[in-house]
Order: sequence, then C-alpha cells, then structure tokens
Amino acid sequence: MKNVVVLGSTGSVGRNALNVLSNFADRFNVFGLSSNTNIGLFKEQIERFKPKRVAITDEESFQGFIDSLRSLQERENETEVFFGMDGLKKLCSDPEVDLVINALVGAVGLLPSLATIESGKGLAIANKETLVMAGDLLTQKAKEKNVKILPIDSEHSAILQCLLSGKKNEVKRLILTASGGPFLKRKKKDWKNIKVNEALSHPTWEMGKKITVDSATLMNKGLEVIEAHWLFDMPAFKIKVLIHPQSIVHSMVEFVDGSLIAQMSIPDMRIPIQYALFYPERLPTNNKPLNLTQIKTLSFFEPDQKKFPGLEICYQALEMGGTAPAVLSAANEIVVKAFLEEKISFADICRIVKKTLKKHEVVENPNLDDILNADRWAREEANRQINIKDRTLE
Ligand code: MG
Repeated sequence: MKNVVVLGSTGSVGRNALNVLSNFADRFNVFGLSSNTNIGLFKEQIERFKPKRVAITDEESFQGFIDSLRSLQERENETEVFFGMDGLKKLCSDPEVDLVINALVGAVGLLPSLATIESGKGLAIANKETLVMAGDLLTQKAKEKNVKILPIDSEHSAILQCLLSGKKNEVKRLILTASGGPFLKRKKKDWKNIKVNEALSHPTWEMGKKITVDSATLMNKGLEVIEAHWLFDMPAFKIKVLIHPQSIVHSMVEFVDGSLIAQMSIPDMRIPIQYALFYPERLPTNNKPLNLTQIKTLSFFEPDQKKFPGLEICYQALEMGGTAPAVLSAANEIVVKAFLEEKISFADICRIVKKTLKKHEVVENPNLDDILNADRWAREEANRQINIKDRTLE
C-alpha cells in the first residue's frame, strides 16, 4: 500500500488522479490533498477519501475551511490541516508519504516539487511550469536522490512509453503532437477580437483555464518542448512539434532506422496518470478503448509559426538557457491571467511574453534564488507592460 499526496486535488488533473486512485484503492491510500480556493469540492474529497493531512494555499479559503472543519471533526474526522506553501512542503516531505502527484498550476508547484525530491519520494508531475522554470535544478536533484520524475502530461507520458522501443542513442527525435487549439483556422488579424470564452473552448481536451488558454496560443506546446528537454535529456533541435487535431496520437519517437513509434489512445488524462502511478507496469481498467475504425482519419501538419509565435518564443527561451525559461513561464502566467480578466487581448499574450523575455538579463547556471528572483522580476515586468497597454487605450 502506497501513501499518496495529490497537490491541486480540486483541479482537472487532480480530480482525474483521485478517480484513478479510487480505482486502485487496494494499492494506494490517499494520504494528503491540497487545494487553493475550491473549498466546496475539497470538503467532499476529504469526506470521501479521509486523508490524514491536507493543505490549503489561499488564506481566506483556509480560514473559512477551519471554521467549517470543526463540525466535520465532531464527526470524528481526524484530518490535520496545513496552510500555505509551508503546508504544501510539509505534506510532500511527510515521512509516511511514498508518492506525490503534483497537479498544481504555475510556479507555485516548484518548492513542493523540490521538497518531494529532496525527501526522496516518488514524483508524478503534471505541473509543467515547474520543469520549465527549474528543469536543470529538479532533474539534477532527482539524480542525486535517485528519484524518477514521472510525467503525467499526456505527450510526455507518450514519449516515455515510445522510448521503451529503443536505446537513447538510437533516438533521432521526439515529436510532440498538438491539437492546435480552437484557433487553428482563425485568421491572425482577427486575434485581437478573440473572446475569453472562445479561448476556453478546447476542441479535444477538457482542462483548467490556464492550460486551455496556453493551448490556444500554442504556448502550452512550447512549454512542453522545454519540459521534454529536461525530462528526456534531449537537445531542442531533436524535439519537433506537429499539429494533430484529433488528439489521438499523443506523441511519437523517431528512431535512427526510420521507425516511428507512436502512442495512441482516446484523449483521457486517466490513462497517463495511471501509467505514471504504475510505471513501468500496465494494469487493466475500464477506460474506453480506442476504436480506429470510428476515428478513420488521423492528420498531421506543420505548425504555422508566424501565426502562433508562442512556440518559437519557447524554443528561444530554451536556447537562451539559464533563467530565461523561468521568465518565460512567469510572464506567461501573468499575461494569461490578464487575458482571462479581459485586461489585454489574445494577441497581446505572446507579444508581452516576448517583450519581457527580451528585456531579461539571463543568469546562467541559476540556483534556486536566481530562479525565484527571475520569476519575481518577470511578473513585475509583465504587469508593467500590461499597464502600459492600458494607458495607451485611455
Ligand atoms: Mg500536454
């Protein structure tokens, strides 16, 4: 029986993770959960899974929760409640914990990931921003501590599976597939008119807001290129992106003999989550099998880099190295939030990220402080640019 912590359990990946864990209740005990603000659902999860410890990161939500917990405790619930970043770190490094599923969104996932690795626990990671901002640091620490970082991102899970077909020096390149998001066919000149709800309607995957907007700009795929670089120790020029609107082929590995190995399934996050939980074992489930005769067509084409500059910006950040990817990721978090709050247009997202990256003075071989400083600087700079834009509108 493994004790598992799910960070971000009320988010899209977190909910799917709990769904998978509940299918294997004889193998996994839900030991800890964390949430930010979705306290209603969080309470339901606590009642259902009875975790020993939980953490809440949002202060107001924490207070409200503590008050309501008193009544829960009367019903002999012994859940211990932690607060904030310290709470997340405590959850991850608890001696009783075997595995942490990090399904947090954004830079907030970094310190919990580090705490998990440093205490030698297994880490299944859906929090790609963590790997983007501090991939070098995390993978080095993981090596030191003999921790295997297992990807939950569907593309990286696919690559992990495809890589089993050969040796590392036989790999010619990794091919990440991208659905292309909702604006594949929309003209670039119309981008400034894109509404928030249009950006939030993804054609094939149901996900949280930030990643859905990232998918619409293709920034998500760019972040995944950086994620793949660190997870699989592959140089950027060996990582390619192809648009594949059906989201059936989740990624591919091309080998030196011309063989192309692809991993396919219906788009369902429970499949990569389960693979990470049991890696390298496979267990039967009730997941819907893929019926290719129903799908009929699988199409692939090159991404339009002019229309979707996000992809190129990410390759650029990877090339710049050091603190550049941390700046990219932080600036992107800020502009996506501003777009969701209707402060900037869809077209502004990549423009402001690019500008912020350009202004950054890269620190090479960054330590944790350098990365956190770069993150802070990028947030301030991106916010400054968002406000400049507001002024020109007045
Ligand atoms: Mg993905």
